[in-house]
Amino acid sequence: MKFKSIGGSDSVTGSAHLVIDEDGFECILDYGMFQGLGNETLSRNQHLGLNPHRLNAVVLSHAHIDHSGRIPLLFKNGYKGPVYCTPGTLDLCRILLLDSAHIQEADVRYVNKIRKRRGQDLLKPLYSVTDVERSLKYFKSVPYNNWFSLNANLKFKFIENGHITGSAAVELQWQSPAPKRMLYTGDIGRYHDLLLKAPQPFNAVDFILCESTYGDRLHEPASNMEAQLLKIVNDVCVTNKGKLFIPAFSLGRTQEIVFLMDRMKTKGLWPDVPVFVDSPLSSNATEIVRRHHECFNGSLTEYIQTDPDPFGFNQLHYITERADSKALSDSAAPAIIISASGMADAGRIKHHLFKGLSAAINGVLIVGYCSPSSLGAKLLNGATQVKLFGEPVEVKALVFSMMSLSAHADARELIQYLSCQEAATVKTLYLVHGEDTVKTSFKTRLQALGYSDVQIPQPGVTYTLN
Ligand SMILES: [Zn+2]
Repeated sequence: MKFKSIGGSDSVTGSAHLVIDEDGFECILDYGMFQGLGNETLSRNQHLGLNPHRLNAVVLSHAHIDHSGRIPLLFKNGYKGPVYCTPGTLDLCRILLLDSAHIQEADVRYVNKIRKRRGQDLLKPLYSVTDVERSLKYFKSVPYNNWFSLNANLKFKFIENGHITGSAAVELQWQSPAPKRMLYTGDIGRYHDLLLKAPQPFNAVDFILCESTYGDRLHEPASNMEAQLLKIVNDVCVTNKGKLFIPAFSLGRTQEIVFLMDRMKTKGLWPDVPVFVDSPLSSNATEIVRRHHECFNGSLTEYIQTDPDPFGFNQLHYITERADSKALSDSAAPAIIISASGMADAGRIKHHLFKGLSAAINGVLIVGYCSPSSLGAKLLNGATQVKLFGEPVEVKALVFSMMSLSAHADARELIQYLSCQEAATVKTLYLVHGEDTVKTSFKTRLQALGYSDVQIPQPGVTYTLN
């Protein structure tokens, strides 16, 4: 058995790991899109790194675009085999991959207008909506904890890992040339997620392909989130009578924030302030999260016994139509507006911020990681003026942050996740999905715990798993 990382081994994006068995059966674990790599992004996404005609199966850990985003490209280039994923991942891929195609088509239209004026060659999107629709027909759902045979030699099962709805670690087992097991962690979630079950332990394995995004840091403790949020809402919306803007990822963070509010409403703590989730993708994602009870943790399962809709209360409104979004932007009434994107760099949140940032009665609440050059990061760093749609905008609104909500395990949780293994019996632990400095620091930590062979695989290099 051999494995080769095509992406996601030298960065936190574009995850794709090819496994090839003794008979040449090729299976790819994830086939994600590279994001945010500047000028390199397009060329890295265009380079397939494998022959789609030789590929036999895709096994997908979860629906995030950096893990699933290039699957339609495989089909566009001749792949005709199955894509195995959990039922939750399948539902989410339907909306996230279509959204990805829509964004690419819109981006290319915009860029091509400029290129045409300059007499340059026109660009094409990586794939279209039609490519996505065609590939979705090949997706097959496999429930958690059920072994599924890929061929006579190789089988896998999905194990819950608490990262997003439908997310899973993939345990692979093969017989030839000798019986062995490997675990691909996917992205590992949290042990005290607001909504999802904790990551589940796995069988003793010989090899581990482990993510390491936060292998060198600890998250803020998640205590007092309700009190924190309530104080911000009271200050901005009740005392100032202003608007509170919350840029949030459509999937995950939006539902967590809405659930926090729903829970406070149930407890009678919520002030009389309307909440708007203004994003068609967030509305659709919420519908899917709501449906997949199998991913709910114990306390959410208990909660829905008394409140069957943890993502809905009478002051909460989901907005899909652009006209309604514009009317909300124009209104002067106090409100909370939750909208994508999480870094405030795209989507409808930009329009709300364009109108609202210069009013001192308003507030912005950042609830997730923002890359250094993003608008969210500039606001967090205290910028007094930012550029939106090419125009300067004064920042007079108050800026708050609540960074305890992360979908990724921190260093302590990664160690906790691996603690189901006897370190000495794991032959090799490969670190993927992390920045180089993080992987090096996490490697030292793992070696101290008794993992004798910890490797950082290089992209394109083939490793033997014997
Ligand atoms: Zn992810």
